[in-house]
Amino acid sequence: MMGRSMQRTPCDNMNHRRANAPVGHCPQCGGVVNDHIRVAPCSESNHAAARRHQSVFCVDCGLRLILAR
Ligand SMILES: [Zn+2]
Ligand SMILES: [Zn+2]
Repeated sequence: MMGRSMQRTPCDNMNHRRANAPVGHCPQCGGVVNDHIRVAPCSESNHAAARRHQSVFCVDCGLRLILAR
């Protein structure tokens, strides 16, 4: 019998541990960290800025910004 519940830890980003994450998606794995944040349409300049901060995923829409090799 499995003792654990289906609790997944997508990555070690701190946003997953926050009860009230300031962003909708995790920048490292793209998982939803706060589904109360409304998804606004992103512009390409928004994504370009996020790439400069080395976010793999957009924290607003969850889109992958940096492709895996
Ligand atoms: Zn994550
Ligand atoms: Zn976006």
